Amino acid sequence: MPSVSLRLAVIGAGAAGLVAARELRREGHAPVVFERAAAVGGTWLYAPPAAPSDPLGASATHSSLYASLRTNLPRESMGFLDFPFVASEATGSADPRRFPGHEEVLRYLEAFACRFDLLRLVRFETEVLGVRREGRGRWAVTSRKVGDKGSGQEEVYDAVVVCNGHYTEPRIAVIPDAWPGKQMHSHNYRVPEPFLDQVVIVIGASASAFDISRDIASTAKEVHIADRSTPFHRCVKQPGYNNLWLHSMIDRAQEDGCVVFRDGSSIKADVIMHCTGYLYDFPFLGDDSTITVDDNRVDPLYKHVFPPEVAPQLSFIGLPWKVIPFPLFELQSKWVAKVLSGRIVLPSKEEMMEDVKAFYSKLEARGWPKRYTHNFSNCQFEYDDWLAAQCGYPTIEEWRKQMYFFNGYNKAARPESYRDKWDDDDLVEDANEDFKKYL
Ligand code: FAD
Repeated sequence: MPSVSLRLAVIGAGAAGLVAARELRREGHAPVVFERAAAVGGTWLYAPPAAPSDPLGASATHSSLYASLRTNLPRESMGFLDFPFVASEATGSADPRRFPGHEEVLRYLEAFACRFDLLRLVRFETEVLGVRREGRGRWAVTSRKVGDKGSGQEEVYDAVVVCNGHYTEPRIAVIPDAWPGKQMHSHNYRVPEPFLDQVVIVIGASASAFDISRDIASTAKEVHIADRSTPFHRCVKQPGYNNLWLHSMIDRAQEDGCVVFRDGSSIKADVIMHCTGYLYDFPFLGDDSTITVDDNRVDPLYKHVFPPEVAPQLSFIGLPWKVIPFPLFELQSKWVAKVLSGRIVLPSKEEMMEDVKAFYSKLEARGWPKRYTHNFSNCQFEYDDWLAAQCGYPTIEEWRKQMYFFNGYNKAARPESYRDKWDDDDLVEDANEDFKKYL
């Protein structure tokens, strides 16, 4: 098979950018990783509390982690496929819990970067400002050292791999301007102390909404969760808490500070915390990238990775959500690396577009809105295994698949304690047995 070595720009040195760099280099390419932070880790680089200049807005200087965050996936399932996330010296472990705190994940990613000698590929504190299509399928990348002024430096690359993450640009619920209280997005939430004795409304039903509402309830006078999946007539005090209620969605927020829920209850609140998710955002891409983002659909992308018109010279790693992210990033990266070297041949542009359209038809038939395009809640392992088959790599381990589902059931059955109580020790044993070949 022909094999080509390319000079590539990778945007981001979070989990996706790191594993992409490793796979691209393994395949014989020469990646340069642009990272605007001063260290690797992306999401897992916690920034201590500071008063955000815009509590509802995005910040390029901090990630979306809060101080108390523990992983919501068991560590055995979370790690890269050939670099187990075990509590060992090799992963720099200092928190052996099965659902460790966020610092442990950062240590793991740092250990991964060191183990595979990736740090020297990264240009730290260097932000990509623009990616522009050049002749012959190549791309001009403009980057600038953080803090520098001026228009930056332009370099030409054979291809660009976008790994910029999608937990930075807040999605906000619409609250009328006349509501007089404070508003904040979970992106800017760090610790519960600023909410002492306050009445806080948390909007959302995600893992962050669940964790943050409990965190804030430790200091706040009252916390009221507004969850659009809760039935209209219900307002329920949460078991184990004196100051935490679950409501249906907000109906209106009034000038007098009251927030009225669809369940009929009304609360005079000090703060609304938007745990309402994030938007895909690629501020450095222009129209020549051929993709648009509409209602959180990145469109069009063949298998959520390649825009057919400019494939394979532009690709995206890490867009799917409701997944086990690191293994998925790894398989996408293997695929991209092999497509770029010519060992895997993509279908024609027309065939890729047909595939995208067929996929959209399936979503429509299921009644899913556009914003669920990259929601993989019922297809991640099928997708992972498809990627693995393309690359001639083994399919996702059976224990990992089962562990993911068991964790889901356990979380539903023990929402407050799933991180400390579980019934799948047999799967942990299988995982540890499997890991022996990598340790
Ligand atoms: P990121 O980690 O966001 O990395 C992107 C990188 O790109 C960043 O370092 C950023 O600085 C850089 N970048 C962006 N734009 C530019 C630019 N223009 N120029 C240069 N650099 C740029 N996953 C799990 O597996 N388990 C969990 O328990 C878990 N919990 C989570 C909890 C929260 C609150 C959040 C927000 C996410 C959680 N995730 C969890 C998902 C997590 O985000 C992924 O695991 C993973 O870390 C995402 O990696 P990434 O590389 O795609 O993106």
